[in-house]
Amino acid sequence: MRRKGDGKLLAGFEKALEGQRLNMVYQPKVSLRDGHLTRVEALVRWDDPEFGPVEPSRFVPLAEQHGLIDDLTQWGLRTILKQWIDWREEGIDTCLAFNISALSLQHLDFPDLVERMCRALDVPTDRLVLELTEGATQPLIKLMDTLTRFRIKGIGLAIDDFGTGYSSILQLRHLPFTELKIDQAFVADLGRSRDCRLIIQAVVDLAHGLGLSATAEGVETVEQLRLVHELGCDVAQGYLISPPLPPHMLGEWKRDFRKRWPSLVGNDELALWREVELDTLREG
Ligand code: C2E
Ligand code: CA
Ligand code: CA
Repeated sequence: MRRKGDGKLLAGFEKALEGQRLNMVYQPKVSLRDGHLTRVEALVRWDDPEFGPVEPSRFVPLAEQHGLIDDLTQWGLRTILKQWIDWREEGIDTCLAFNISALSLQHLDFPDLVERMCRALDVPTDRLVLELTEGATQPLIKLMDTLTRFRIKGIGLAIDDFGTGYSSILQLRHLPFTELKIDQAFVADLGRSRDCRLIIQAVVDLAHGLGLSATAEGVETVEQLRLVHELGCDVAQGYLISPPLPPHMLGEWKRDFRKRWPSLVGNDELALWREVELDTLREG
């Protein structure tokens, strides 16, 4: 949908893209088994001298509508792959999760381009996971060939925001996903909604049944962390674990989080109480 002021914003965005004035921040995702860093999700940031900070949910759709999305995607990929090299030199070898617009996947040669970019920078392709969201106009099922090519190259595929919008169970069965990300709306209501718990439980079972790992997004409280753990999620991400970080802070976060993890999951009494509560729920 067009909004007032889009013209000026678009011109500003084009300038920011050309002038390398966009940044990436990185949000850690941790294993719920032992708290280790499984990957980082790259999230683009634009802080403009004229407009101030502009949310990606505002400018990414604008880039999609005005033919700039491929430029944004390629800038993003180059940036994160170079960052991966810097982290490796620091002794951090992690996977990168990258949000990709379904529009950028319409070119059949895109997987080759991504592979060439990885090769040129000596980043193994299995360190990359693409996060995709189902859109109204770009059903992912139409991108089956492109998605399969990514998988053949060892690149992971996550379905983002699962459970809201347009994503459907059919997509999961037919497309070669490796990870399912449960939308943060379900996690947000977890503490007060029995329905949300049942939905998460069912989605986790579905993901595991299809051989995918299940990630809970938007984990903000210790209670939510413990609940998604007990409901069987494999990975968690959210402000409780870490907000998106500038790249130079990842090493320090990693050292601190190792110390924080036991206290986040360690209250046996509460965990036991949750198990009893979940058993009651399951029994109806
Ligand atoms: P997303 O992929 O679902 O990303 C998660 C969003 O939730 C991010 O917002 C993140 O900052 C925010 N978030 C993380 N933890 C929490 C939490 O605990 N609570 C809450 N309430 N929010 C949390 P952000 O960075 O504003 O990104 C919004 C959306 O913009 C993303 O949603 C993604 O769809 C899109 N996006 C971001 N970066 C890129 C990019 O480089 N390329 C493309 N194509 N899209 C991007
Ligand atoms: Ca995402
Ligand atoms: Ca999401």
